[in-house]
Amino acid sequence: MKSHAKVVVIGGGVVGCSVLFHLARHGWTDVVLLERDELTSGSTWHAAGGMHTINGDPNVAKLQKYTISLYKEIEELSGQATGVHLTGGVLLAATEARLDWLRGVVAKGRYLGIDLEEISANEAAELMPLLDPKQFVGAVRNKEDGHLDPSGVTHAYAKAARKLGAEVERFTKVEDIVRRPDGMWRVITNKGEVVAEHVVNAGGLWAREVGRMVGLELPVLAMEHMYLITEDMPEVAAWNAKTGTEIIHAVDFDGELYLRQERGGMLMGTYEKANKVWSEFQTPWNFGHELLEPDIDRIAPSLEVGFRHFPAFERTGIKQIINGPFTFAPDGNPLVGPVRGLPGFWVACGVMAGFSQGGGVGLALSNWMIEGDPGADIWAMDVARYGDWATMAYTNAKVRENYSRRFSIRFPNEELPAGRQLKTTSIYDLLSAKGAQWGVSYGLEVPLWYAPAGVKDEFSWRRSSDFSHVANEVATVRESVGMAEISNFAKYKMTGEGAAAWLDRIFACKLPKPGRMTLAPMLKDDGKLIGDFTLANIGDGEWFIAGSGIAEQYHMRWFEAHLPADSSVRMEALGQTLTGLAIAGPKAREVLAKVSRADVSNAGFPFMAVAKMDIGTAPCLVGRVSYTGDLGYEIWVAPEYQRAAFRALMAAGEEFGLGLFGSRALNALRLEKNYGSWAREYRPIYGPLEAGLDRFVAYGKDADFIGKTGALAERKQGGKLRLRTFILDADDADVIGDEPIWFDGAVRGWVTSGGYAHHSKKSVAIGYVPKEIADESDGFEIELLGKRHAARVQAAPLFDANFERMRA
Ligand SMILES: Cc1cc2nc3c(=O)[nH]c(=O)nc-3n(C[C@H](O)[C@H](O)[C@H](O)COP(=O)(O)OP(=O)(O)OC[C@H]3O[C@@H](n4cnc5c(N)ncnc54)[C@H](O)[C@@H]3O)c2cc1C
Repeated sequence: MKSHAKVVVIGGGVVGCSVLFHLARHGWTDVVLLERDELTSGSTWHAAGGMHTINGDPNVAKLQKYTISLYKEIEELSGQATGVHLTGGVLLAATEARLDWLRGVVAKGRYLGIDLEEISANEAAELMPLLDPKQFVGAVRNKEDGHLDPSGVTHAYAKAARKLGAEVERFTKVEDIVRRPDGMWRVITNKGEVVAEHVVNAGGLWAREVGRMVGLELPVLAMEHMYLITEDMPEVAAWNAKTGTEIIHAVDFDGELYLRQERGGMLMGTYEKANKVWSEFQTPWNFGHELLEPDIDRIAPSLEVGFRHFPAFERTGIKQIINGPFTFAPDGNPLVGPVRGLPGFWVACGVMAGFSQGGGVGLALSNWMIEGDPGADIWAMDVARYGDWATMAYTNAKVRENYSRRFSIRFPNEELPAGRQLKTTSIYDLLSAKGAQWGVSYGLEVPLWYAPAGVKDEFSWRRSSDFSHVANEVATVRESVGMAEISNFAKYKMTGEGAAAWLDRIFACKLPKPGRMTLAPMLKDDGKLIGDFTLANIGDGEWFIAGSGIAEQYHMRWFEAHLPADSSVRMEALGQTLTGLAIAGPKAREVLAKVSRADVSNAGFPFMAVAKMDIGTAPCLVGRVSYTGDLGYEIWVAPEYQRAAFRALMAAGEEFGLGLFGSRALNALRLEKNYGSWAREYRPIYGPLEAGLDRFVAYGKDADFIGKTGALAERKQGGKLRLRTFILDADDADVIGDEPIWFDGAVRGWVTSGGYAHHSKKSVAIGYVPKEIADESDGFEIELLGKRHAARVQAAPLFDANFERMRA
């Protein structure tokens, strides 16, 4: 075994081998994979080997498509058979709600290049002869489904990597990992030590244990999972003989089952409701090529449905039941990327569908390690989407929930119950008493809307029980004054003599003067966006930033990686040590004036001003800015004072008709101002010009800000896309995001977010289209629940296009 390597990859499952292959293919060949046993000694060996392109997140779906396209290449390169059978498959709907969901999947496929087609239940039965069409209302055909040999694929990755110069050391167990003062990693094994610049944790079932070696508690947990293999079936033999083809895959969402042919019989797997965690706290090191005890009672309810939906199963015997463990992150997507605070330590774990996702994970991670950027939008699998709040108990609750809901519909207005009330602010009970309906963001409870007694969300793809109540909240803001809790923003504080110079380099905007704020895009080295913030200069060398709450860890990883080595800049994420309230609407200033002794007149405290002032008796930081696009203020207050500030504002607002509003009303308000948000409109694949944030980029400023060259190039060449707001002729449903945008009969773009703008009484969608058609006024359509609706570009904001309200 070599004593030094550029990269040590820990784990010889499908994921570690894919990472090794991609690093070597990308030109890093001084790389070694350490496997404690034989390759495939974790969850990989007993996988059912199914692969498919669909995923709830379109960007993960793209990487799944890439994974499937890769198998031919690694087979040729390695000479190792991968056993790929691209049979195609059917996705089955037993209810109308499921069919609506599937139509959304087909629509997404149109701009992802995934070939999906809606078919009837009878047509599905012609393709998959074992199903009873009477049990289904419709289906979708997917040509890119199939299965493979899990061991063959893993060895093909490893052999291909070796051919490219990478090394694999089997029976080499990593026992500890120690960071040296010079930043290199000592990887200590049972066979000696390797010193490496980078370490990748692809430990699969043992990813937690490998993480703990560097003090990291990763939010992953293994679940038991069962599938059965039947005896040979005459129906299968007859079909094979008649068509010369295998029986295609089927996913029966409402039965929570997946099926495929296995030799002369069938394989049927299920994500059962009565699921079971495996090795809750620690994975035993002596677990290897073993199976767990099957428990047919646990999967009996799913099998009952299976027998009804696929009657031939009732007439056949079960040859074998496989029960094996594999790992999940709380939301079921992988955990990939560099770990904040551990330079050179990377993770590629929590991969629940290694044969659909392993290639994409390897590609993204190798790009990230070598180029400094994953090369794709991988937010949905970035390890930084979780913070310390994703504790072991939280992970346990969410993983169990996610497993049991693997094939369940999640409606756009549906909030999931597991792991809730983890983080609440000090006014949680006060807002609950006013009817707050809670959602969750980065572990924190956030008010979505306020319901009268006895009313709650009715889950639907269409406008629902909240519609008129959200409309009232919007009206309160636009007509008098509303108050919202905004503690879910990320908040950061910067001080130190080097802070201004550092901020000038990290942000693309011009720095605000003391007492002022600005919108601050942050760019990556390639000039694309990595954040959008409000940057406030508090004065006396103190700076404050507010940004996307869900991206706190993501942005801290970026900030910290770019901090100067000396201590000239001090930066901290304030988390819930600072909470927030916002008031907005034409009467907002009058409310503020009643509770503050500061001069809050337009002259004394103009638009984009920021100052410390007391609200009632509570010390606060107040900025005159509002995401509602109205006259408004954001108020930042330490948690111990939040109740006092809230009560003072409520009391002062009474005479002006102040009402509470939640994040759904805020969405409706920001849509009519064409305001985007991080992780929807603003993502790391778009340039500032494309995203319409170029007006905040100080292209000519002296500071050599990160991404300047890329941003200037984008401005010169014009980028490829444009973000546009559309008004939709909708019926009873509004877009939620990821719908295709048609132009002249072809899919040319995609929706990033939208909803109903209650004040303007318009259904609004925001999305990207190629710049060549971005200024067309006619010819657009947006596909929603299987139907194309005429749409037109709304260039000027629907509300207050001249910014008179905001600046008044
Ligand atoms: C019953 C079942 C059916 C499944 N069906 C499918 C399917 O149809 N399709 C699909 O895509 N996925 C399926 N999966 C999931 C799939 O198996 C996983 O997604 C995949 O195996 C994850 O691979 P991995 O490389 O991350 O982890 P693992 O396979 O667990 O690999 C981790 C490797 O790291 C090694 N290791 C860990 N710690 C150390 C250390 N300290 N030193 C050295 N080596 C170490 C282990 O020995 C192991 O070989 C199924 C899983 C099960 C259990």
